[in-house]
Amino acid sequence: MRSMEEFVREEAALPSAPGEAEHPALALANSAVALPGGHTADLLGTPAQAEQWLARRDLAPDGAGLAEVCATQLRSLREQVRSLLASRVAGQPALPAAVTAVNDAMTRVPTASLLLWDEKTGPYRATPHPTTAIVEHALAVIAADAADLLTSPDAARLTACASPPCNRFLLKHGRRQWCSTRCGDRARAARAYARRTAME
Ligand SMILES: [Zn+2]
Repeated sequence: MRSMEEFVREEAALPSAPGEAEHPALALANSAVALPGGHTADLLGTPAQAEQWLARRDLAPDGAGLAEVCATQLRSLREQVRSLLASRVAGQPALPAAVTAVNDAMTRVPTASLLLWDEKTGPYRATPHPTTAIVEHALAVIAADAADLLTSPDAARLTACASPPCNRFLLKHGRRQWCSTRCGDRARAARAYARRTAME
């Protein structure tokens, strides 16, 4: 028997869904995976995990030193992006708050690198809170990508994984409607089971 921890770790290591490599916004939306049994694996669960997630996508340098407040900002943008993707997939109007959140993240001016003057060594520039600047930049890049994704021709291929309880989004290629072979296998097994029980 696998422990719950092993199970969550394994599921969290799911291969990227189609489209995530080109779209960091899609990757963000998929960073909290709903697992069978009502569990969730959150790849942004801790500041260290959030930092790793950003670093893997070249959105933050290693050792950026994210704090919980930064991880919270990312998780909050994730909810807004998920809401927009779900609205697009369902052909429904978006929540105005989600549109506003994406626009705010996109247009927030990153903390400026200020001019400082050392009595001995003279003028230099430094960012007062380098981590804040890193996170705001990452949020802006992801938000801009969300806007691109929703308005580009790719949006027509956007879909939700058709294998419950999976909650990931993907860009469809051909008829494939699952985010991973694992979800495809689970959906096929569920269909076979439904057929068997219907025959009994
Ligand atoms: Zn899936």
